[in-house]
Amino acid sequence: MTKPLAQPDPALLASRADAIADAARELAAFGWTPATSSNFSMRLDEGLAAITISGRDKGRLGRDDIMVIDMDGKAVGSDSRPSAETGLHTQVYKRFPEANVVLHTHSRTQSVASRLFAAEGRIRLEGWELQKAITGYTTHESVLDIPVFPNTQHMPELEAQVDAWIDSGKPLHAYLINGHGIYTWGRDMAETRRHLEALEFLLGCELDLRRLSP
Ligand SMILES: [Zn+2]
Repeated sequence: MTKPLAQPDPALLASRADAIADAARELAAFGWTPATSSNFSMRLDEGLAAITISGRDKGRLGRDDIMVIDMDGKAVGSDSRPSAETGLHTQVYKRFPEANVVLHTHSRTQSVASRLFAAEGRIRLEGWELQKAITGYTTHESVLDIPVFPNTQHMPELEAQVDAWIDSGKPLHAYLINGHGIYTWGRDMAETRRHLEALEFLLGCELDLRRLSP
């Protein structure tokens, strides 16, 4: 195992920052990051990650809007403030060693679905072809549960709920926070984008079914 770098390699950081900014611009264009919400990160090595600085317009990110954090969520080489939800990103990197990207958005569909299914504590997706967009799912006959956790401004509470779900042995590829948005992750940006877009689509389908069912 290589030792974590004290400072990230500048070329690696620049390429990760560009990848985050490119993805953020596209997700913002979909309308999934309203009013400077949402945050995005990429792992740099086992000890460091690049993450969006709090409060920036996600449709207009440049390299200066991305900062480095360690796996305790502390800023590395910067006085900027990382996203308030940084702990949820580092949790994914610590719990899922294969994960290298975390995307968190606040689309209208994600927000409404989280409210509608909060009482059940999860959204159960089954019978949809697009479940196959989630890594490890090979058929529409699978069951894909997306938990809905209560929202809180106190991140350790949220982290404890995510830990409890993982520790119970249930698969976790994404979760919603009630009235808030979605978190999902993957091995690289392409896989994580695929997860996010598939989940946005599937949540929209579930909302339509509720709306249209007699
Ligand atoms: Zn958020």
